[in-house]
Amino acid sequence: MFRKIQIMDRVWVLQDRADCCANLVIGDSQALLFDTCCGWDDLQGAVRKLTELPMIVINSHGHYDHVGGNAQFERVYLHPADFPLLSLHEPEHLERWRREMAPDAGNDTPAVQAGNWGNTLQLDFREFDLGGLSGELIPLPGHTEGSMGVWFPSLSLLLSGDALTPVMCLNFAGHLSPAEQEATLLRVMELQPDIYLTSHQDHAFDGSLLPLMLQCVRDTQTKKGYAYEYPVPPYGSGRLFLNSTGSEPVALICEAK
Ligand SMILES: [Zn+2]
Repeated sequence: MFRKIQIMDRVWVLQDRADCCANLVIGDSQALLFDTCCGWDDLQGAVRKLTELPMIVINSHGHYDHVGGNAQFERVYLHPADFPLLSLHEPEHLERWRREMAPDAGNDTPAVQAGNWGNTLQLDFREFDLGGLSGELIPLPGHTEGSMGVWFPSLSLLLSGDALTPVMCLNFAGHLSPAEQEATLLRVMELQPDIYLTSHQDHAFDGSLLPLMLQCVRDTQTKKGYAYEYPVPPYGSGRLFLNSTGSEPVALICEAK
């Protein structure tokens, strides 16, 4: 059960029942699938309704809600620095998460794929060509060390995974420091994408939130933040630095001291 949202010609967001999004970009001879969501829904089938072309599948990073459907594909590429995160995805933990996030998914879904990472390969290329559309892998470390984005210069489009989420979490497994996230934000601002996509929103963003996100990161050096409990799996506490409570809240959550 995927919602399909078309962002522009050739570019789709596929959203699963836990509101995790994969991005599909369709060229003339190949397609890119960026992330495989939680694995509770038939992503392969959803993609095949939109394109029959051969597919390159890349994970934005190693958190479970981005790699959960990897087993549905022949091969999937993940940055080497995020491979240690795969071993943290325990079956009992994942099943509890599924029950809480997607109770209607049923027990017969391919929810628990922990340990089944044989088709997940180390990302070892920096560019690819989809036919009439070339993409570049861009390191976006911060949310995790191996977080990657995909840049399509001809579309001025950046696929960013969790690296540019308006409510940014630096309190989950594998996170780096606010300083590393700041460097990533500055690099993206220099790139000046017209739009970027994230993994937990079904719409595109322009660059207007990036300075607010940058301010949140800098506030971690000068302010104390608010105590915060992340309310849904994978849970976790932290300090919240809030910048905007507008229609799109902007905040950064980092580890409690
Ligand atoms: Zn993540």
